[in-house]
Amino acid sequence: IPKQWQIAIDVINQIEHAGFEAFIVGGAVRDYYLTKENNDIDIATSALPQEIQAIFPHTIDVGIEHGTVLVLHQNEPIEVTTYRTESTYTDHRRPDAVHFVRNLAEDLKRRDFTMNAMALSQSGDFIDLFDGRKHIDEQLICAVGNAEERFKEDALRMLRAVRFAAQLNFKIDDQTFAAIQKQAASIELIAMERIQVELSKIFTSQFPAQGIHYMQESNLAKHLNGEFDSRAWQYFQSENRQVGWAYFCLVNNELALLTQFRCSNKDKQFAKQVLEAYDCLLKGIEKIELLYFDVEILHTAYQFTQWQQQTINVSWEQLQQQKLTLPIQSAKELAITGQDVMAWSHKKRGPWIKEMLDTSLRAVVNGDVVNDKQKLKEWFHATNVEG
Ligand code: ATP
Ligand code: MG
Repeated sequence: IPKQWQIAIDVINQIEHAGFEAFIVGGAVRDYYLTKENNDIDIATSALPQEIQAIFPHTIDVGIEHGTVLVLHQNEPIEVTTYRTESTYTDHRRPDAVHFVRNLAEDLKRRDFTMNAMALSQSGDFIDLFDGRKHIDEQLICAVGNAEERFKEDALRMLRAVRFAAQLNFKIDDQTFAAIQKQAASIELIAMERIQVELSKIFTSQFPAQGIHYMQESNLAKHLNGEFDSRAWQYFQSENRQVGWAYFCLVNNELALLTQFRCSNKDKQFAKQVLEAYDCLLKGIEKIELLYFDVEILHTAYQFTQWQQQTINVSWEQLQQQKLTLPIQSAKELAITGQDVMAWSHKKRGPWIKEMLDTSLRAVVNGDVVNDKQKLKEWFHATNVEG
């Protein structure tokens, strides 16, 4: 048994010993049934947060008002959340209030999809009130209860359905899907940060094209910025969310989308560089351009050419070799500075200095001159005889 699971079992046993109920719930139960690894375990309990704090000597308050206490067991943290229901969602986003309850069924009922609404006892018994296992067997994503109502409560669930379809290669159940199509516009009420999280999971899923296809078919894409064209994602495959967002920019030919989806400046910087490197690769990259990009950026740009089915007459191994065998790896390594060329030429400061340094860099990269101050000085005088 993996360590996190042993910890969950120990913690549940202690809660039960104190006279309360506790079960593993949510994604960990779904993945356990799917025999997929998942060590991110959530426990639900009939005990109130204060009662959990009284049972365990080491706890951290991470959101008591929502019922969640982090229990530290053998120095490992595990989330324990009191059974709760959520009352009226007037804004289609967040419940107006959460209520603690003593009944597991109430807690499971508020969850999004049947496969996510199961509980697992410490001894391995499933509590499966909504046919979660049957739907998993049928590879179906199915809302708990009335799909339309559930998406009215929280519009993000529509995007979560698409996300799970992309991760698991499941179909979205017909009624659930019809409800999404009908209410797709309400996705506009959801904070971009939450949307970004789900889109990131679609991009980095095992079946991104399936997710993008569902984005179109469900009408969700219409209410978000950017094109969601599943053909463009047919060959895409990455576990790196930054790579996913950069690819989204590429297929949309639009970097500003990252701002709209509240991506970080780091994400933007990454995408910008990858797209520049991509353009260089398409027109045939020059040696000097290999200096501008680090290997990770170049590799990502190279993958983009493959996913876009562009013909590049060099393999990645060759390109990497070309870069690594350059005499220098960065423009900063050039052995001379602007001061040097000014001193050698006796000319006034001006834009020519930068041009001269560029020319020198090019000469070094092309192997015309060794990157050595004395050698560069000789080369400088030889190429500037008139100056
Ligand atoms: P992942 O493996 O990506 O973490 P997950 O199923 O664990 O998937 P979480 O977002 O971690 O998803 O949520 C944990 C559980 O909480 C879900 O399995 C589901 O039961 C419930 N849940 C999460 N978000 C919602 C929501 N918006 N509406 C209803 N239930 C939700
Ligand atoms: Mg989770």
